Amino acid sequence: MSLVTSSLVQHVQVITLLNPPVNSLGLQLRRDLVQALNLAMADPTVQAVMLTGSENAFSAGADIKEFTTASANSDPNLLTVIDLIEHAPKLVIAAIQGTCMGGGFELALGCHYRVCSSNANFALPEIKLGLIPGAGGTQKLPRLINLEEALNIMLKGESFGSAVAQKLGVVDQLIEGDFINNAVLFTEKLIIDKKPLQRIRDSKVKYPNAQAYLDFAKTTLKAISPNYPAPLALIESLKSACMDPFSVGMQTERKLFIELMNTSQCRALRHAFVAQRSCNKIPDIPQETPTRHINLVGIIGAGTMGGGIAMNFLNAGIPVTLLDSNEDTLKKGISIIRKNYENSQQKGKLSQTDFDARMGLLTPTLKMDDLAQCDLVIEAVFEEISVKEQVFKELDRLMKPGAILATNTSTLDVDRIASFTTRPSSVIGCHFFSPANVMKLLEVVRAKETAKDVIATIMKLSKTIKKTAVVSGVCDGFIGNRMLEHYIRMAVILVEQGATPTQVDKALENWGMIMGPFRMSDLAGNDIGWAIRKRRYIEKPQVIYSRLADAICEAGRFGQKVGQGWYKYEPNNRKPLADPAVTQIIEGFRSKNNIKIRAFTDAEIIERTIYALINEGARLLEEGIALRGSDIDVVYLTGYGFPAFRGGPMKYADEIGLVKVCAAMNRIFEESNDPFWQPASLLTNCINQGTALS
Ligand code: NAD
Repeated sequence: MSLVTSSLVQHVQVITLLNPPVNSLGLQLRRDLVQALNLAMADPTVQAVMLTGSENAFSAGADIKEFTTASANSDPNLLTVIDLIEHAPKLVIAAIQGTCMGGGFELALGCHYRVCSSNANFALPEIKLGLIPGAGGTQKLPRLINLEEALNIMLKGESFGSAVAQKLGVVDQLIEGDFINNAVLFTEKLIIDKKPLQRIRDSKVKYPNAQAYLDFAKTTLKAISPNYPAPLALIESLKSACMDPFSVGMQTERKLFIELMNTSQCRALRHAFVAQRSCNKIPDIPQETPTRHINLVGIIGAGTMGGGIAMNFLNAGIPVTLLDSNEDTLKKGISIIRKNYENSQQKGKLSQTDFDARMGLLTPTLKMDDLAQCDLVIEAVFEEISVKEQVFKELDRLMKPGAILATNTSTLDVDRIASFTTRPSSVIGCHFFSPANVMKLLEVVRAKETAKDVIATIMKLSKTIKKTAVVSGVCDGFIGNRMLEHYIRMAVILVEQGATPTQVDKALENWGMIMGPFRMSDLAGNDIGWAIRKRRYIEKPQVIYSRLADAICEAGRFGQKVGQGWYKYEPNNRKPLADPAVTQIIEGFRSKNNIKIRAFTDAEIIERTIYALINEGARLLEEGIALRGSDIDVVYLTGYGFPAFRGGPMKYADEIGLVKVCAAMNRIFEESNDPFWQPASLLTNCINQGTALS
């Protein structure tokens, strides 16, 4: 079956791309399109061609799965197709509805004219995959519109709508009413008016002193994104668009595109892109699994987490009943929500109408009975099993049948929480991250008895509230925090044995982590880790912890909230300042415990912390807590400030090479005698079988 249809309307051959859902430009579509174009050019009754897609998508561009396969460049490749259109002897018009992105946008730029509907949405998002547009976008867009606008579009990779497209001059006309008919009428008019074949390639970039502007942009970009080569390549390609003949510019673009394609950053970003889309595929839960309707949400606990969680639903237009057992806390919770929305309003990000609508959807209550009709209840009360028990027993008694009962616990056993009810199949973990209205990650914790439709419902709902959901099995800390514990543990051991908190933080931040482990602990509150460790000392005495972190807590240094932790902080200032008092605690601790210190290189710091994430991640995979290595990467990229250009801990391990990673782990094992460092058997299996971790 052909992936295009073609029909003559008056003098216009309408060629429609038919490759749902988004008309990705795979090999077969390209072949069918070329065939249809050739037929139209050979047919004397055809005076012009109108190229269009579906109502929702003109084309979202290349098929990312085809990227690294032979098909991507098999003939006809996208450049050939665009060349054919540009040099066609008859007018070719792009009639764009819905998505018009990447290669799809470049295809439209190859046409002689462009019209679009009001729902059209344009983007050249290649930069997000560590690339630049590779089918003429960097050469044509600055010839069509203002150079600065073109640079911004390609540098940010964000989409823009039809009104902006018209204003910028990306399209020749915005079509109202019956789109196809009116687009044909527009084309007929071009024929009658004997309009020329307008080839963008034949024009020049009109911008005074383009070279100086691009040099300035390059200097700025070098400083703000040192780890990403694509922005600088974009500048190079644009320079060529400004200075060189079109054909040379196209060669420059191609050369840079291929070079970028082979960078580790591009591999990492492409991995992250695919990984994000894979998260909601759960092997034993088919996509078509029916889901429950969630029209009313209850949240229990109006503290740090409850308020933020509530905002996600209010933002999505879902009414929320927010309950707390304490009237003052409830009032405070509501006022924080209001304040957050007022801040958005002041920044011009929220209209008065939206503000009123969101606050109007929020019902505070002190009475559990008011939750009875909710379709979903999320519990965010104190992290104590007895409190959870009381809440879940109460929910079990009063909630309507079919309601989903979720817990936001960070460390407690979700199976145990489910067992407090007579309906464990309706119980699930929804582990939001703080601040819950901002952080994208949601760990969806699948307990032993959680029903498949409950999981499917939460996965679907996560999209409505714009979260990235990753499924985790039940274990202490789930995916993210279980790995983090070892990362922090190793960071503290490094300081115990000779490094400084600043050195460790700086090494990891230079490597790409948004925040080093000590700054992060100070932000989260050192007392939280302390409470967990006290439990660990009893439950898991074999795990080696440095008690140095306890000494910091014993000195009352709980972090930013008290103005001192691993660093000190000036009032109302989050900037960490090295504190001689901390040095004293560290040195006192070392001498009291006869610890022999040594110097650590930044490379050693990275190994001992990042490889700890890798080893624990591999164990989570082995145990089936995480479904895929790429899920672990998504958790770290979206929830823990892991650098996107490294693709996540599992991808990073693959990039380094598992043999090398295991050798380093064995070496650290010998040096430290910490059994944790024995490589997880999955790593050895992957090496033996030649498979990747991510
Ligand atoms: P919090 O102390 O800020 O808020 C808890 C709220 O629950 C308080 O307002 C309290 O009055 C209320 N509450 C206590 N018992 C109650 C009951 N029986 N009925 C109704 N309300 C009750 O705590 P938090 O930081 O928001 O944490 C809540 C949950 O979220 C915990 O399970 C925690 O582990 C989890 N969590 C916290 C974070 C975080 O960073 N704070 C992150 C992820 C998950």
